[in-house]
Amino acid sequence: MNKFNADVTGPDGKQYEIFFTRNIEIEEILYDCSKIRIIVYEGKFPWVKTVSVNKYKVHLKDGWQQFNTPVRGGFVSETEKTAYLHKNLPIEEKLAIAFHELIHILEQHPEGLNIETERITTEAAIALIAKNQEYLDSKNINTAKIITSLQRRGTFVSKISGEMTLNINHT
Ligand SMILES: [Zn+2]
Repeated sequence: MNKFNADVTGPDGKQYEIFFTRNIEIEEILYDCSKIRIIVYEGKFPWVKTVSVNKYKVHLKDGWQQFNTPVRGGFVSETEKTAYLHKNLPIEEKLAIAFHELIHILEQHPEGLNIETERITTEAAIALIAKNQEYLDSKNINTAKIITSLQRRGTFVSKISGEMTLNINHT
């Protein structure tokens, strides 16, 4: 299935219908770097808004909050080996989220379980990116930007902790 509509519960608790499409390019990059094949979909997440470069507003249960990384810009089905990404982001932000979700799938833990798991996941993602620097350079991908995005994310996890409960119902 390369495209579908799904009902998704956002971090603000509201239901959204989101149109997802496969992102094969990101799937191939993740595979080349890890030799693990996962499925990557992207769609517009209405709870993430870009304010300016590296400034994002995210709608959480207690309202809109500003971050300098698109937190809640991705979620994962670790059982279906599938990552879901917010579409409207620079490639480096998408890859930061995608590598983070890949580690959740590899380690078989859900997104947003607790702060310690998130920290370990982000560190493992950074290590995997560093290991593949040469390959990513050859694809003209700015690894420094991806790593900066992941490091920033770590500092915000405490503000948004709590389990991510996004339920996908294919429609
Ligand atoms: Zn996570």
